[in-house]
Amino acid sequence: MNSIQQNLQEIQSSIPSYVTLVAVSKTHPAVAVMEAYDAGQRVFGENKVQELCAKYDALPKDIEWHMIGHLQSNKVRYILPFVSLIHGADSVKLLSVIDKEAGKIGRTVDCLLQIHIAMEETKFGFSADEIMELMGNQSFVNFRNIRIRGLMGMASFTENREQVRSEFRGLKSLFENIKSNGVFGPEFNILSMGMSGDYGIAIEEGSNMVRVGSSIFGVRNYN
Ligand SMILES: *Cc1c(COP(=O)(O)O)cnc(C)c1O
Repeated sequence: MNSIQQNLQEIQSSIPSYVTLVAVSKTHPAVAVMEAYDAGQRVFGENKVQELCAKYDALPKDIEWHMIGHLQSNKVRYILPFVSLIHGADSVKLLSVIDKEAGKIGRTVDCLLQIHIAMEETKFGFSADEIMELMGNQSFVNFRNIRIRGLMGMASFTENREQVRSEFRGLKSLFENIKSNGVFGPEFNILSMGMSGDYGIAIEEGSNMVRVGSSIFGVRNYN
């Protein structure tokens, strides 16, 4: 067993079985994905459309590919034929494009609403207030080719564990709130929160899907 396979096994054995582990393979070559695949991993996450498409083409077709990064409207159509979950649905405009393009190819596409929970400023993600307002306006009811499966969020990049915990707790509470509202039906059941540095806390706070990259594949080299 090599180190990727060892890391995977350690993580899998430390998380409950109801938690889906998304192995985030961005920047790592297809051979690294294959090592994880050979150890039984089937769910992988990427954050760039081009890299996602290239890996989809090159790798076994029983892999479930998750798009975890920001998705530009004009690139939606490249991944729609095969993507199994879009984590970063962060605007109504993007959702309408996904809905329209999915209709064209006769697919129903699973999406998570990305919620901005961290202290850092970012243009990506809905605020909790925005989501409640959009639900009040019935903004999501006309999508025919999208299934809103749950929420995704990223905690602040900080050493302050209590800060991280309280952000995850807030997201879990929003998730329960929306779920009990019922508009999205029983399929609204995925809470994607937790990465290498904080997936333990995320699971304690109610996550059922974690996106783990560097703890499996090692540090990333961006160049
Ligand atoms: C890169 C990335 C991850 C994985 O990060 P690690 O810290 O390497 O585990 C998780 N989620 C998103 C949205 C990412 O972009």
